[in-house]
Amino acid sequence: MGKLSRRARRKAGPRRCPECGTEVGEPYKTWELVAPIPDRKMRITITVMGMFQCPNCGKKFRAVVSKIKVGPEGAEVG
Ligand SMILES: [Zn+2]
Repeated sequence: MGKLSRRARRKAGPRRCPECGTEVGEPYKTWELVAPIPDRKMRITITVMGMFQCPNCGKKFRAVVSKIKVGPEGAEVG
């Protein structure tokens, strides 16, 4: 169970600075990217991107905040 739980925690865990590894908090800016082509279930994937700034070294970087699938049957966060 060790490897599996570590991977799950990493996915949901805090974002880290790619430069120095410091944990960063919430993004200071977010925006949405909408996929131009729906998937087979006619759902559009909306990717929420965020800009983060490292509190330690000041490095700014982009990361995916979340992905939302919107279709005829409603929205789905995944
Ligand atoms: Zn940093």
